[in-house]
Amino acid sequence: MHKEKQCRNDVTIIGAGIIGVCCALSLQERGYAVTLIDRSKPGEATSFGNAGVISPWSCVPQCLPGVWKNVPGWLLDKDGPISFRFRELPTLLPWLWRFFANGKPKKVNDIADMMDRLMIDNIPAYQHHLKGTGSENLLVDSHYVNVFRGATKPNLNDLAWKLRCDRNAPVHIVERPELLELEPALSDDCHSAVIIEGQARAVHPGDLCKALADKFSANGGAIVRAEIRSLEANWDGTYTLHCDTQPRQCKKMVLAAGVWSMDLLRSLGVKLPMISERGYHVEFANPNVTLNNSVMDVAGKFVVSSMSSGVRTAGTTEFAAADAPPDYARAHSLERLTKSLLPDLNTSETNYWMGVRPSFPDSLPAIGSLPGFNNLFAAFGHSHYGMGMAPATGKIIAGLVSGEAPNASLDMIKPDRKF
Ligand SMILES: Cc1cc2nc3c(=O)[nH]c(=O)nc-3n(C[C@H](O)[C@H](O)[C@H](O)COP(=O)(O)OP(=O)(O)OC[C@H]3O[C@@H](n4cnc5c(N)ncnc54)[C@H](O)[C@@H]3O)c2cc1C
Repeated sequence: MHKEKQCRNDVTIIGAGIIGVCCALSLQERGYAVTLIDRSKPGEATSFGNAGVISPWSCVPQCLPGVWKNVPGWLLDKDGPISFRFRELPTLLPWLWRFFANGKPKKVNDIADMMDRLMIDNIPAYQHHLKGTGSENLLVDSHYVNVFRGATKPNLNDLAWKLRCDRNAPVHIVERPELLELEPALSDDCHSAVIIEGQARAVHPGDLCKALADKFSANGGAIVRAEIRSLEANWDGTYTLHCDTQPRQCKKMVLAAGVWSMDLLRSLGVKLPMISERGYHVEFANPNVTLNNSVMDVAGKFVVSSMSSGVRTAGTTEFAAADAPPDYARAHSLERLTKSLLPDLNTSETNYWMGVRPSFPDSLPAIGSLPGFNNLFAAFGHSHYGMGMAPATGKIIAGLVSGEAPNASLDMIKPDRKF
């Protein structure tokens, strides 16, 4: 039995997205009495509408050497994968400076190693968390079918594939006949694909998060509905959470409020270079086609997948404030691109969604103690990879809260690293 099981230390987690919920389950397994606080129900923010890709092989950082050369073309294309709002430039430019600095080959390799560590066991870890929930079928086996259209041909020597191959990802190229056996609904111009085997996908990421939160609750965990307005560090090492309801006190706190973690840290005088990288999805409720795997359009940089609620296309990066009104032109663009990839797709019933990725310039999250604050742990900043990294984040946080020495260095993800 863990020491904590005997003394029943309390831990409060702010944020019931996939990161907060996985932290809650891992801490609960160690015997902690955990309170999970969210202003909404679990899994209703960014963890709701993502592409559901759960890959042990997502070890490719966003910034690769030379990626900046593509940026002007992407910005000029109305269906391109990135956009930004001019008023964001003062925040965005210093972030982009750091982002491109992280695209040096040695740095990319180190980041890929860290990502690999955070991803590699994610499928068995989810299976473990889902066991006994009755919702085990929310996670299914999948390949990652990375489809090539037009003039570009797949080349496994390209860095993005090499980074995976160097870390033993089961990757191979297929030509059109084999591709159509995997995904018969693809359009005529899909000539080949890179297949990554051994992945999983969530058939409804929001429901997956809810099922795990229900398990936490059924095992005695407390889920509290409240909006935290600010945090206060008290002289005795405890914290006061100023809420929309009454204030709450806690001794140990995990901050897992996604992109909104920065608002709360500001009340403690902490500033970190995390920005809001928004993405969209369009869901086709009555699609008339089925995909068997997560399908990535390599040129368009969007992912399509059959979910329990229809065919969902998710992607795009929009640099805009988290609370700015959504620009659904981004989702309409995804709709057009999906129709060109899946010509038989029925587009008559569509739902649009916008979510906010919390992103640091080195593609890595912040996991660990916040210097200067006892018993305050960061678990945010998972950008494009939160579904994949959530179980490992929970495990690391549970170890740190328990005061265990980590079995490998966490320097690359500590909140006060050099970005
Ligand atoms: C279009 C898109 C596609 C994606 N596809 C994938 C994918 O295929 N695979 C993958 O691994 N990742 C993917 N991601 C990334 C992934 O969705 C995120 O990294 C992940 O959901 C972040 O989880 P989180 O728990 O940190 O944040 P969230 O899910 O945003 O949760 C934060 C929670 O904190 C709560 N909160 C915030 N502030 C407060 C407050 N003041 N008081 C109370 N509660 C508060 C919110 O209500 C929310 O529930 C995608 C993201 C997008 C946008």
